[in-house]
Amino acid sequence: MKDLLEDLIALQEVEIEIFKAEDGLRELPKEVSEIESIITARKRSLDSADEEIASYEERKAPLEVELKENQALLDAADARIKRIKTNKEYLAMQREIDLAKKRKADLEEQVLTIMEKIEKKTSERERIRTSFETDKVILDEKMGKLKTLMKELEAVLAEYKGKDDRLRKIVDKSLLSKYDRIKQSKKGLAVVECFEGVCRGCHMHIQPQLFNELIRGDRLINCPACQRILYVKAEEE
Ligand SMILES: [Zn+2]
Repeated sequence: MKDLLEDLIALQEVEIEIFKAEDGLRELPKEVSEIESIITARKRSLDSADEEIASYEERKAPLEVELKENQALLDAADARIKRIKTNKEYLAMQREIDLAKKRKADLEEQVLTIMEKIEKKTSERERIRTSFETDKVILDEKMGKLKTLMKELEAVLAEYKGKDDRLRKIVDKSLLSKYDRIKQSKKGLAVVECFEGVCRGCHMHIQPQLFNELIRGDRLINCPACQRILYVKAEEE
């Protein structure tokens, strides 16, 4: 019985490693996608700052065109007013100039307001970009580590799956089906050590008589409390 159990214990060890690797491979991609979403959010806030700046520029452009036209109008009026002969014409011209100057002041005010907004947004964008640059180094490094770890786990998994296949062919068939049944129902360990008469699966004491039987190793002993397959280490015997 002892030799049969040795193969089974080896199989269980391999399957625990497989379980751990699979668990890691389920969890690590979640961490990877968390980092990806942080990076995406940062990029999005940079893009939205860019868009806002562009929309200010778009509003500013026609105002600047109008300012130039307005200046040309004023320059022309200045030249013309010198050649005016009558008072009536002069007053009309002066009124035209006053209106143009008023419009100029208004336009300049609007352009200035927009330029202040652009400046504010640009420095905000710069702050976002600088902190993103610093954080990205850390995030990229984390991401690199996670991906390496995933590759390692995949390699471990491949290796242990191979070992698992080989051991499953070696382990006694009826023992294997018992093991699978218990493993399924316990969602974990199916073969456990019985140390000083205590089951390491459920921590219950087994009867001394049963423990002696276990040490003799003539037949398969299950823990009466948790049904797990019991074994004793050599030193216990
Ligand atoms: Zn037990």
